[in-house]
Amino acid sequence: MANSEERIQLLEHQNRELLAENLRLKTSGRQENDKRDIHDAAVEQLRQSNIRYRTVFENSLLGNKIISPDLKILQVNSALVKMLGCSSKDDLIGHHIIDFAHPDYKADWQILQEKLWRKNLPSFKLETCMVAKNGQEFWVSVTSILFTDDGGPLGFTILENIDKKKRSVNNLILREKWFREMTDIMPQQVWAADDEGNYSFVNSQSCAYFGRTEDELLTNGWQDMIHPEDKDSYLQAWGQALKTGRPLTFELRLKNKSGYYHWFLNRAVPIRDGQANLWLGTNTDIDLQKAKERQKDEFLSIASHELKTPLTSLKLYSQLAIKTNDADKKQDFVKRSVSHIHRLERLIADLLDVSKINAGKMSYEIERFKFDDMVSELAANMQSTTLKHRIKVERNDPAKLEGDRHRLEQVLNNLLSNAIKYSPEADEIVLESKVVDGNVIVSVKDYGIGISKDDLTKLFERYYRADNAAMKFEGLGLGLYISAEILKRHNGSLWIESEPGSGSTFFFILPLQGNSLLKEFGTDGQTFYDSNFIKINYVADRQWLEAEWIGYQNLESVKKGCMIMLNLLIKNKCSQVLNDNSQVMGNWSEASDWGAEYWFPAMTEAGLRKFAWIYSASAFSQMSANKSLENAPGDLQTVFFHNRQDAEEWLNRAD
Ligand code: ADP
Repeated sequence: MANSEERIQLLEHQNRELLAENLRLKTSGRQENDKRDIHDAAVEQLRQSNIRYRTVFENSLLGNKIISPDLKILQVNSALVKMLGCSSKDDLIGHHIIDFAHPDYKADWQILQEKLWRKNLPSFKLETCMVAKNGQEFWVSVTSILFTDDGGPLGFTILENIDKKKRSVNNLILREKWFREMTDIMPQQVWAADDEGNYSFVNSQSCAYFGRTEDELLTNGWQDMIHPEDKDSYLQAWGQALKTGRPLTFELRLKNKSGYYHWFLNRAVPIRDGQANLWLGTNTDIDLQKAKERQKDEFLSIASHELKTPLTSLKLYSQLAIKTNDADKKQDFVKRSVSHIHRLERLIADLLDVSKINAGKMSYEIERFKFDDMVSELAANMQSTTLKHRIKVERNDPAKLEGDRHRLEQVLNNLLSNAIKYSPEADEIVLESKVVDGNVIVSVKDYGIGISKDDLTKLFERYYRADNAAMKFEGLGLGLYISAEILKRHNGSLWIESEPGSGSTFFFILPLQGNSLLKEFGTDGQTFYDSNFIKINYVADRQWLEAEWIGYQNLESVKKGCMIMLNLLIKNKCSQVLNDNSQVMGNWSEASDWGAEYWFPAMTEAGLRKFAWIYSASAFSQMSANKSLENAPGDLQTVFFHNRQDAEEWLNRAD
């Protein structure tokens, strides 16, 4: 095939000839002179046309080229030379255009080749990425037109640099992706709707809450999930907002996929979009906030009632004391007034303590004192306040403790006065204080109304009071919250064992010297570990690790025992554990978060696959165990048991 300049000249020549022939035919009947004039004019016209064609081809601001069916460049203009970062046309003519294609987009040119030359389409358009000689990447829009000359079919191709446009479109796409991802990580439901209230966007939180697909929500919305009591007023407010174009803020209840209603704050803000509004909206879950508000309102009403009762009595006895001239009666009224003043004082002290705890301003004065003296003194004091109940101190081990005596008195006082208050039909309270492995363990047992299992673990929450609708007991629901806080600050913990109708025992444990004493009895570092808080054995014939936890546990003992278990599991390449808590007492809830977050993932990573957990009898220990496994790793199978035989059978069972 001829080179490009020759082919172009050939083309021009052929065009000239064709046009001349055409004219010759048209004018065949005319005079010879006329014919020559017309012929000359036509040739001139053709020359002008060629000049125009060449000028347009060359001077176009777009990159022009003519390519052969094998994508070789035959002719180019200066704009394309510049676009591809070359210094002259010779850098391009004779080269394949594919040489300038971005490596990831070479196929685009093959598609163009296929469409134009194999499928014979008259023209074809595409967008592709190219690389200039200096390595600069840029996007072009390519339009190729097929035409034919004597040498065969050729492609006339125009390239437009659309890099800026393309990048801004890509940026938009990226921004939309960010927007979607951002709305998906937001805890709120996010949506968009038009002026008619038709939804055009919902985020994944909306789908997850209502249990509907994006398509379902876009088509039908979520208005059928509005609580019947809120629906009319919300729809009216929303309709009004759509009509007036004013932002909307509304509180309403929305039903979740499980059929429960939560309170939401609905906000919708209009954005002007041409003639119409685009409404951007969020639904924020405010259920917890609402519950807290409710709790606060209830608390205020209880607190005012609790404060008013002694105040009314105080007023009454003071008035009676003023009126009477009888000295004995006067003294009796004053005495009664004083007891109500004490009650008021205690209530106000509790309120002040809660605000101190909330502000993190509860201060402790640590001293070393005889804990057993404190116990006997308090028991005697409390005994003087009640005629009905006998406070029996069944055990009081000698113990020296480091802590805030006044605050610990407050704890024991609270437990003893609760025991009296909540056992109106009984006449005995049993108090014990014993020293076990460097800890003092105190128990206060009553034979009163007891506490249901559901209430047990919530009693340490602020304002929480079990619902004893049948009997009204005075109180603010703050004492146990304050006590648990004080014990926590002494590295101790509080727990309860109770049977509704039979009574309750409140326990607390306190390390005598700030830290409990863990004692190691022996280990070979490979198959066993023996201590006063855990015994671990590798049972070779069953290929499992057996861990038997003993007595009271806290964060320190749980962490230590668990780390030894992890070490033995790795050393024995073991995948099964029999974790026996049947000898565990008390509450070790402070360790359950650590177990869930670090220990179980580490054990699973080390190869643990089956974990059989024998429960302790203590409800608080069971609660701590459940909490440790709240987010158990997916590869791990865990089952709780109430006896050893079932646990062993489960471990023996092949999966
Ligand atoms: P208050 O006694 O002022 O309500 P507390 O924080 O001391 O506040 O106790 C919280 C709740 O725990 C009480 O309202 C009661 O329901 C329950 N409770 C506490 N001690 C006992 C007990 N010994 N027996 C039964 N229920 C108890």
